[in-house]
Amino acid sequence: MPPTRRATKPAVPEQLGFAGMPERLFVCTPSKLGAYTDCPRRYRYSYIDRPSPPKGPPWAHNSLGASVHTALKNWYMAPTERRVPESLPTLLKATWVREGYRDVDQERVAYQRALDWLESYVATLDPEDEPLGVERVVAAKTSVLALNGRADRIDTRVGPAGPEAVIVDYKTGRSGLSPDDARGSQALALYAFATERMFRRPCRRVELHHLPTGTVVTHEHTEESLARQVRRAEETAQDIMAAEKAVAGGADPDAEFPVNPGSLCGWCDFRKVCPAGASVAAKEPWTAVEHLSA
Ligand code: SF4
Repeated sequence: MPPTRRATKPAVPEQLGFAGMPERLFVCTPSKLGAYTDCPRRYRYSYIDRPSPPKGPPWAHNSLGASVHTALKNWYMAPTERRVPESLPTLLKATWVREGYRDVDQERVAYQRALDWLESYVATLDPEDEPLGVERVVAAKTSVLALNGRADRIDTRVGPAGPEAVIVDYKTGRSGLSPDDARGSQALALYAFATERMFRRPCRRVELHHLPTGTVVTHEHTEESLARQVRRAEETAQDIMAAEKAVAGGADPDAEFPVNPGSLCGWCDFRKVCPAGASVAAKEPWTAVEHLSA
């Protein structure tokens, strides 16, 4: 885990240097915070260094995930009478991202698998349902964060006290999911927090929908568990701002944004430019979709 900087918290209120002036909020998405938590150096390469260091080639699993997500978005954008399984090949073809595959044969297999997943998944959906949001940007502010992010889907369900919002996140990766994945996901919790604020209705339930297995794992947050995740996000933001401030004051950027070598390095876009990643065996851009052809 990257080192923490709790001791440097006071750096934040000093940012503008004038007593009584409002503090600058840290503008972020859940993935920006997650990048720092995973590896401060990767955060620096992605969000601070300009020009940004060159990235490796696109990943096939990202192409596959993006294609499926966009097809589902367009499913909900279509009028209800066109939300039928027969529409799926057209929807998927229109949004198919071709990058990263080893060859056309592998891409064809991935396309067919994606279509199978979508057919199974939409069979579980009511075409008449109109979600509260599809790929909806939600945003909220705290005393530290100006948070925004795009939720895959926000459903409406009736709870004991009236309508509630539910965060739905699609997954297309190889590994199955457990309820711990839903419970521990900071991104889902932050979407729920922002949704509750924006729509002024409870949003405590978060769901991961794993299309390859048809599994849905869920977690019911409480006010306290959402507050805990927001606090953690604020602490991460304060760590980042403290590191940025230190660099602005002349500190060594490599020390302030240290590497965090580990299993993620093989999948890191900046592996080639990072001193820690260069020694890690590279994954092929299509490694994570190879199992689909097995
Ligand atoms: S290669 Fe590893 S250590 Fe280097 S930036 Fe990427 S994740 Fe961090």
